[in-house]
Amino acid sequence: MNYDAWFQCSEGCGETYPLTEIIYRCKNCGGLLEVQHNMDVLKQRSAADWKSLFEQRYRRTQYPYGSGVWGKKELVCPNIDDNNIISMYEGGTNLFWAERFGEQLGLHDLWIKQCGNSHTGSFKDLGMTVLVSMVKQIIAESGNIRAVMCASTGDTSAALAAYASAAGIPAIILLPKAKVTREQLIQPIANGALTLSLETDFDGCMEIVQKLAGRKDFYLANSINSLRIEGQKTISIEIVQQFDWEVPDWIIIPGGNLGNVSALGLGFLMMYELGIIDKLPRIACAQAERANPLYRSYQTGFTEFSAITAQATQATAIQIGNPVSVHRAIRTLKRFDGIVDQATEVELANAAARADRTGLFNCPHTGVALAVLIKMVERKQIQPDDRVIVISTATGLKFPDFKVAYHNTAPGEPAPRYLNAPIELEADYEGVLKQIGTHLDA
Ligand SMILES: *Cc1c(COP(=O)(O)O)cnc(C)c1O
Ligand SMILES: [Zn+2]
Repeated sequence: MNYDAWFQCSEGCGETYPLTEIIYRCKNCGGLLEVQHNMDVLKQRSAADWKSLFEQRYRRTQYPYGSGVWGKKELVCPNIDDNNIISMYEGGTNLFWAERFGEQLGLHDLWIKQCGNSHTGSFKDLGMTVLVSMVKQIIAESGNIRAVMCASTGDTSAALAAYASAAGIPAIILLPKAKVTREQLIQPIANGALTLSLETDFDGCMEIVQKLAGRKDFYLANSINSLRIEGQKTISIEIVQQFDWEVPDWIIIPGGNLGNVSALGLGFLMMYELGIIDKLPRIACAQAERANPLYRSYQTGFTEFSAITAQATQATAIQIGNPVSVHRAIRTLKRFDGIVDQATEVELANAAARADRTGLFNCPHTGVALAVLIKMVERKQIQPDDRVIVISTATGLKFPDFKVAYHNTAPGEPAPRYLNAPIELEADYEGVLKQIGTHLDA
């Protein structure tokens, strides 16, 4: 028997499709498709052997197995030929020990998983390497795809454009006009993608791209395509590996379209089934109050869900009112005894700035997760000795205006709590020394 994986309908009808088929929903019932693995074959290798295989490959040079994703190839996407893999050494990101920030909150074991320390600056690289490699494989086998495309809040498009251009495949990007940062916008432009800036929000872009996906010659790269979820689920495996195969107590993750929280859960469930771990963490999904459909559903015990129109938030990558993976996410949260909480604009900005002062440089979405962390500690949902991981989804360097606005508050506006404005003064030794003294004595 060989390692094998396929698409399977997640709504119970159980229909299966090969991973090389261009399909996003079940033909029978319209349900989302999930990648299913032949677990019997995977179980033939012992947990100890899996761990040592992953250790041998981790961050080494043998292409593509040094990648955090492809080092777990058998659990991710065994069907792809190595010579169709487009890898940029994804994963292997720092698990930052937030010693000082944790100390301020009364936590001894707080860690920030720096998923944004990656080729295009966000965790989206983890999924895109799998998706674009599969497209390359499909093209090699049948040659029927003319372009890959996505709707994006800025990070998916950057990842797709980079991997597609490395593969030599045309990319089409749909972005909501004026709702992504300059840094995010310039990435697909530089990589040569057709970049379409639409007069709508993300949900509006998503509607159009899903219609375009009806054509079989354009391949859809949004997270409705569960090949991306397979790559993203390596976040869980990597975190556990970084703790010498111990499972943390809590993981807090920002959620927008809700693919990543589902991916996180899948990674743990797979390790559990293979005996690599013997317990599961709890998961907290963090939403911006201005784009909080999952939080509202959680308030009803997940008995109801309604899409909303997302309001403008600084956490632009999660400004989503109609998340495509909502059902997967709810299933995940129920399985992991999960919670959902939210953060206001002031809370997310203060949380990001406060943690920045302890050596981080947080994006606004990580700020949402950090604000939820602070609330969970305050209501004693998280205990001082709990091992807690916050998933940082992107680098703060993609969101400079968020930080500039915070530290450049106009006179008359209330100063934010952790404001640190530059001081302008003459180039005069005595004056400089005096200023330093004032600062250090304050
Ligand atoms: C995509 C993204 C998210 C949200 O992930 P989902 O899978 O859509 O929930 C959060 N933060 C950043 C920086 C992102 O790019
Ligand atoms: Zn079905």
